[in-house]
Amino acid sequence: MKKLMLALFSIMLLNNAVAQNTYWQQKINYNMNVKMDVENNKYTAETEITYYNNSPDNLHKVYFHLYYNAFQPGSEMDVRQQNLPDPDGRIGTRISKLTDDEIGYQKIIELKQNNKSVKWKVEGTILEVTLNKAIKPGGKATFSLKNEAQIPLQIRRTGRDNKEGVKLSMTQWYPKMAEYDNEGWHINPYIAREFFGVYGKFDVTIDIDSKYTIGGTGILQNPKEIGHGYSATKSKKSRLKWHFVADNVHDFAWGADADYIHDIVKLNDKTDFHFLYKKGNEKRTKNWKVLEEKMVLAFKFMNKNFGEYPYKQFSFVQGGDGGMEYPMSTLILGNGADIKGLVGLAVHESMHSWYYGVLGMNEQKYSWMDEGFTSWAEDLTMNYLFGKEGANPFEKAYEGYYRLQKSGKEEAMSTGADLYNSNYAYGRASYTKGSIFLAQLEYIIGTENMKTTMLNFFDKWKFKHPNPNDFKRVAEKVSGIQLQWYLDKWIYTTQHIDYAIKLVSTADNNTKINIEKLGDIPMPIDITMILKNGKKVKYYIPLRIMRGVKPTTNTIVQKAWPWVYPKYSFTINYNINDIEIIGIDVENGMTDIDKSNNYYPVKEFVFE
Ligand SMILES: [Zn+2]
Repeated sequence: MKKLMLALFSIMLLNNAVAQNTYWQQKINYNMNVKMDVENNKYTAETEITYYNNSPDNLHKVYFHLYYNAFQPGSEMDVRQQNLPDPDGRIGTRISKLTDDEIGYQKIIELKQNNKSVKWKVEGTILEVTLNKAIKPGGKATFSLKNEAQIPLQIRRTGRDNKEGVKLSMTQWYPKMAEYDNEGWHINPYIAREFFGVYGKFDVTIDIDSKYTIGGTGILQNPKEIGHGYSATKSKKSRLKWHFVADNVHDFAWGADADYIHDIVKLNDKTDFHFLYKKGNEKRTKNWKVLEEKMVLAFKFMNKNFGEYPYKQFSFVQGGDGGMEYPMSTLILGNGADIKGLVGLAVHESMHSWYYGVLGMNEQKYSWMDEGFTSWAEDLTMNYLFGKEGANPFEKAYEGYYRLQKSGKEEAMSTGADLYNSNYAYGRASYTKGSIFLAQLEYIIGTENMKTTMLNFFDKWKFKHPNPNDFKRVAEKVSGIQLQWYLDKWIYTTQHIDYAIKLVSTADNNTKINIEKLGDIPMPIDITMILKNGKKVKYYIPLRIMRGVKPTTNTIVQKAWPWVYPKYSFTINYNINDIEIIGIDVENGMTDIDKSNNYYPVKEFVFE
């Protein structure tokens, strides 16, 4: 008996260990029939949802986001935005002034689980459903949902009649199932930003007045019937049913306008681009034609460097209130006179296909991952499209970081997207410091390792929900360098980097290099020396905590620096008088907040 108990106990332990190491994620299929009433800015929809519970838990409740409810006076979004020290100019007090026919709402008319009505309640932007029957681990449920919605006047991302005159920007527009993972339900109210969703299939039919052209997520299933740039046939019907299917996505967005030009451009044998922008403005049309060419070049570069875009289609849709990423599509403002600005916006938002669309990070929790990684790749792509030879793609990001560091407003990047005390702190932490997280990682692990890390990360985690540790593990496996210290310091604190160099002549042909760690974040040190005879010598000091070194060429690798020691020195066999200049990190790979003490004898020197 005792033996049996022991055996059973060890099996239980083993199961537990397996369960803790097994990744799982929920799955969802939406089958939506939407009937638009554009004249009254309303729609009704009937949706069949099949929800697969791949978790090890019995689910007694499920939750949906009703984002439209945020666009009502007195909503949590309205109040939050008015109480920030630096409110988003696009929102400000606008929600508080919406009239009854300008607000947004989602009304649930009927909700059934496996054909039986269920209890539900709505609080703000969250719909809470108490199930009749729990969904067991490995089980599934079918929900039938009837809803009626009013499309808000465009305030933030979603809505009707945006400032460029686009009729419908249909984003965050349907009751969307909240994500459940090993951290539990993610049911934060919609007060400002960032999303997280369940991967699955969207089968969406939109019944709309035939004068409107639609573009967005998904592939049109009935192009011959539709026309509108898809085929030469022009329908004579007064209404059309656009039937879209998107697989392996976690959201569905679309835009519609009666005056869209619809261009289809081939990227390669696998993927088509769709461009939808308003006609009637010569400058805009010209810019969008340039955009079409630039995006083909951009995606080729992105495919090569960050992993291959896996969908058959991507749509660039004029709409929204700035730029926002959605699976297989983006909604961007399209009137800007500056072509570089338009391309930059389109590159950023479509780059999110990698860091949001395919790698479905929890944007609310790790906004620095999706916004930071996207900004990093955007900077590289824009540098490829427009950059000058030898330009540092991250120069602006680093400058932004130095300003933040001096501002006194810096908050740790581990703060949830909605939880920062100011929009400024959120923006700089998520976009700027998130992008520097990668730029600096390249300094730590080396350029080739960095490239491989990004490609392996994409392959290993596509269509899943990676967290910071998952990324770190990929980088560690590729580089053989331990990186927990870097995450802990850069992500979870507002500590900074500062190193200083001092030279002392010790004998005729010996010079002692003293390096001092003045900041709290330790870093490996690259040192470049130019002698008066033009000779260049490079040194590299890894950190002991890295348990490894980055690959280097023509570089003298010094013994590792245990980071707790504030000082480090080594001696070189050169006469101090023969040294023209010696500097720490002359290529500006790390965010050393005081560069003036990085050089001997003086800072001003151009390294070739
Ligand atoms: Zn972004």
